[in-house]
Amino acid sequence: MTPQNSNETIALDKAHLWHPFTQHRDWNVPEHEPLVLVEGEGALLCDSEGHQYIDGNSSIWTNIHGHRHPKIDAAIRTQLDRVAHTSFLGFTHPLAAELGRELVSLWPENTLTRVFFSDDGSTAVEVALKMAVQFWQQSGQAERTRFVAFSGAYHGDTMGASSLGGIATFHGRFSAWQFPAEHVASLEELNALDAQTIAAVVIEPLMQGAAGMRLWPRGMLAELRQWCDAHGVLLILDEVMTGFGRTGRMFACEHEGVIPDFIALAKGLTGGYLPLAATLTTERVFEAFLGGPERTLYYGHSYTANQLGCAAALASLAIFREERVLEQLAPKIELLRQLLADLREQEPQVADVRQCGFIAGIELRRSAQEPFPPGEMIGAKVCMAARAHGLLTRPIRDTIVLMPPYCITETQLRTAVNALAVSIRQVCGG
Ligand code: PMP
Repeated sequence: MTPQNSNETIALDKAHLWHPFTQHRDWNVPEHEPLVLVEGEGALLCDSEGHQYIDGNSSIWTNIHGHRHPKIDAAIRTQLDRVAHTSFLGFTHPLAAELGRELVSLWPENTLTRVFFSDDGSTAVEVALKMAVQFWQQSGQAERTRFVAFSGAYHGDTMGASSLGGIATFHGRFSAWQFPAEHVASLEELNALDAQTIAAVVIEPLMQGAAGMRLWPRGMLAELRQWCDAHGVLLILDEVMTGFGRTGRMFACEHEGVIPDFIALAKGLTGGYLPLAATLTTERVFEAFLGGPERTLYYGHSYTANQLGCAAALASLAIFREERVLEQLAPKIELLRQLLADLREQEPQVADVRQCGFIAGIELRRSAQEPFPPGEMIGAKVCMAARAHGLLTRPIRDTIVLMPPYCITETQLRTAVNALAVSIRQVCGG
């Protein structure tokens, strides 16, 4: 039976569950009372005790139009009356076909024309990697085997996607089991590599997320595209975090007029409702897989193109059009910029604010020169304190992430930044 109250939920959780990125010695101590989240509405989440919180990181960067959006709710319910899931191996369905057309229509004609569905950000990246390897094998350039990624990169936790990762804490211990990937810190370092053996370069455009919301220099992406073109290297963009409006444009690469050879999309694809991902690529790549059975891409997952997920994604794209979401978001991006500039001015421990559209990383330091010692867990403490002021979010070390759903109201946005200001003072002050 479903637990009747939060104590029972927590007891069962501690008895049986293993959470992602979590040290269970700390999670399981009796004093730790995890929040039990039971409801949501718009930018707010509600716990089992009836407390409301602003969803300050959009439920780990997934939610875009808010919780319980009537159009997404209705689309899923309508689809549920037909069928929840059918195999995409050997069959198709109307929602996937329509979603494919819609995703392609977000790009200039004859650029990204093919859509391969999978389940999450990691698998969307895996798909691009396997396609790139096989593309070169079937295009007479089998020597192009190497992948290049960037220091500080995060592309997911499956073995393949994590081979591209450049964050020692997450990826270091698995290095002997991962495929070899070159990591570079800049375009200069990329230039020093033998381009003729590179299959693809993979990047989180404009901003690296898990690295601590780190911005690339303006123009870097366009330069990278030029470098790839000059050397015949494929460009894979991981827009798992930045896609679907997060940066103020539908896709981050639009800011620099770049079109990749592959793009990995997930998180916001379904509005943050259901796990569905898409890897888009070009007709050139697709055509290299046409021929006998040996040219087939032998890759797929059981829930590929899940019908409920496709229904949610179509509803999410309709909301973008019907509610003019990007237009509505622009003034909120500006307000966030102002609020964070004020925060930086008022709180001496706010050493840096890095913002890209509706994503912000607020870095806390003891002083400009001196970070807080890692053992003090200042970022985690500030986020814990913020709960009492009605804000839920999660830090990356001492960088506090603020990226709420786009539907957040101006008042809620002010409340969120104010909650951070008070919490920073509480934890760091004196
Ligand atoms: N790429 C990027 C840029 C991400 O931020 C993430 C997750 N935070 C992933 C890939 C992996 O996505 P998922 O957790 O859905 O596998």
